[in-house]
Amino acid sequence: MNVNQLEKTALYWRRTKIVATLGPATSTASMVEKLIKAGVNVFRLNMSHGNHQQHRDAFQLVRDTAAGMNQHVAVLMDLCGPKIRTGKFKDGGISLKRNSTALIRCDITTGDEGVIASQYTQLYKDVKKGERILLDDGNLELRVEKISGQTISCKVIHGGILKDNKGINLPDSKVSVSSFTAKDKKDVKLAMELGADFVALSFVRNGRDILVLDSYMKKNGVQIPIIAKIEKPEAITNIDSILDASYGLMIARGDLGIELPAEQVPLIQKELICMARERNCPVIVATQMLESMIEHSRPTRAEVGDVANAALLGSDAVMLSGETAVGKYPVLAVKMMDRVLREIEAHQWQHNNFGGRDNQVTNPDRISVRKAVASAATSLAQDLKLQGIIVPTASGTTAQIIAASRPTSPLLGVSSRSHICRKLALHWGVIPIEADENQTHDWKTLSQSISKYCHLTKTGNTVLLVSGFNEDPALNEPAMKILKV
Ligand code: PEP
Repeated sequence: MNVNQLEKTALYWRRTKIVATLGPATSTASMVEKLIKAGVNVFRLNMSHGNHQQHRDAFQLVRDTAAGMNQHVAVLMDLCGPKIRTGKFKDGGISLKRNSTALIRCDITTGDEGVIASQYTQLYKDVKKGERILLDDGNLELRVEKISGQTISCKVIHGGILKDNKGINLPDSKVSVSSFTAKDKKDVKLAMELGADFVALSFVRNGRDILVLDSYMKKNGVQIPIIAKIEKPEAITNIDSILDASYGLMIARGDLGIELPAEQVPLIQKELICMARERNCPVIVATQMLESMIEHSRPTRAEVGDVANAALLGSDAVMLSGETAVGKYPVLAVKMMDRVLREIEAHQWQHNNFGGRDNQVTNPDRISVRKAVASAATSLAQDLKLQGIIVPTASGTTAQIIAASRPTSPLLGVSSRSHICRKLALHWGVIPIEADENQTHDWKTLSQSISKYCHLTKTGNTVLLVSGFNEDPALNEPAMKILKV
């Protein structure tokens, strides 16, 4: 087969997945259909906004539309965690002047000129004199001067207009509120009832935060894979325990870039992608990727560069938030993202460099049987110019492991369980395919039918079948077979 044909087949599928947040701009069947056609692999329902009925409706909309289109599209329900917010204001907002004094009160629900209510009633216990309090995505900055009773007296460092229910970030303080709040409990109950494919937990500080959510779900008889949102400096310090406890990571750059100096975020992003891949964990790069498309039909060149960079670094997925939830051009935003990713992936394919060479696993102490087999599959894909790697996978684990090595050939994750197919929708490069249980054991017939289905059909073309990894490494029985189709 000539290189052009191989390239055409290989690049038919986009490797980096797209997560899109649903919201008022997109919560209709026709919008969901357009977004899936444009390339969305996972929809995010943001529990910080909307009520349970709205989330139920949106969830059903995704399930029904995806089923009608015969697509495996996952739903990620994003729990708010301990997001600290201001209360309301008597007149909807106030203006804070530089060098003036502002009071934050934990004993009121409505503020007024110079007085801000905190929805988090223990705030006065967590902050100390000299610490910063950032408001409204860090646009306003206060410095604590005095704490008396439940009132925190602050100097305004950077002023501006402050409206109702804006976020409060405490980059210098140790916040004592639990990561899994009473609201999260109600929201995760809904996620369990609906059968969400992933839950994301916000403001995670350590692995324990994830284990609390995990054991809550376990007690209720459901276990949804947990995505840890990395948006606090403490999470960076405790990243090993977080990676051990969670299914995947979201680099939530919105809050991360407020809690840490924004200039530190790009290298943290690079490092986190690398660490997550090393453990076969999927990683999502989130927030402000095509922010200007909330208002405009074209992104800034810098935003295009940001999406391209996430693909060059080998992230599993990139995420749209306001762009698809409330933006004017949700479908154009997804199409734009798709085009940028495909452009980068064509280059990576031609240079056999998916995931970036300097991103490859370098720690020989960590090489396991899993990594060795995945790396062998990746080499075979390159050396034999394989048409595809077919991975029959009961739990998704084998496909997850092979995907983390970023092979050049399309990776076809075949499972008889639709929820596993949906889970694989988040993983870099995996094309989820549902097949009958008995089909997944007859490798010859499976490879022929899949190759035909996925247009890898030219006689004489070669595919690799890999199988046998288990969630429990002690039960691993990896096997590989090269087949002509
Ligand atoms: C973020 O802060 O980047 C993020 C993804 O979280 P949210 O959209 O829930 O604020």
